[in-house]
Amino acid sequence: MLRLRASGWTMKHVTAASIAQAKSVVCNCCGHRVLGRFASEVEENDGLLSWHPGQRICVDCVKGGC
Ligand SMILES: [Zn+2]
Ligand SMILES: [Zn+2]
Repeated sequence: MLRLRASGWTMKHVTAASIAQAKSVVCNCCGHRVLGRFASEVEENDGLLSWHPGQRICVDCVKGGC
C-alpha cells in the first residue's frame, strides 16, 4: 500500500516537471520562441544593462551579448 502511494506521487511529480520544461517563452531580445529551460529571466543584479529585470532572454542572446 505504501509503495503504491509512493509511486503515484512520483508520477505526478514527473508530469508537473515536464510540463514546466515544455513551456515556451518568447525571447525579449530576438523575439524567437524558445523552451523555458533555454531562456533565462533577467534579474536585477545580472549586470545586463541593456535588458530589464523580468525579461526572458534566450541562451543564444545571453551568450551573444546582443
Ligand atoms: Zn533571443
Ligand atoms: Zn538577441
